[in-house]
Amino acid sequence: MKYMITKEECQKAISGVCSRCGGELHPIETVDNADNPTFWCGCESCCHFDNGVSPLVFRIAEALTESGNYPYHHNLPQRTDDEELKKYRISSQNSGNCSIVLQVLNLLEKMKDWPKEKEMENSVLTEIKEFAIKRLQAEYGFCGVVEGPEMVLINSDDGEGKDIKIHIKLESE
Ligand SMILES: [Zn+2]
Repeated sequence: MKYMITKEECQKAISGVCSRCGGELHPIETVDNADNPTFWCGCESCCHFDNGVSPLVFRIAEALTESGNYPYHHNLPQRTDDEELKKYRISSQNSGNCSIVLQVLNLLEKMKDWPKEKEMENSVLTEIKEFAIKRLQAEYGFCGVVEGPEMVLINSDDGEGKDIKIHIKLESE
């Protein structure tokens, strides 16, 4: 029999673990959409075809799922009492989170070529900026900063429903 993808080719293409359960991937004999016999990589423990992700990517994705990040809103695990279905939904969220982790890693790689953000040029305003950031982070644990050569926008919130915004500008008279 002639296979579209042979077992050996399939075996070679496997890299990493199942993006749904972290399980081992194997070549599985099947037919493609045109009904031709072929081998595809898949996971036997969750019965899914999968090309695999690195174990580290899976661990991060699984941690995201465990902390309640569910990219598929129609498939929330907490909306069922059926343990099997819950397991299935969690593995589907894992796989969604794997795509997010991969996108972030790609972006990180691309960011190496991004131009460096320009910092504010005035040294007194820079000191004020640094103080404001440090103080807000110490008090509220979070502080966002948007910066250009002549302005800085700092924002945080007081944890009680109020936004804190500090706009430092260097303007022509
Ligand atoms: Zn699996």
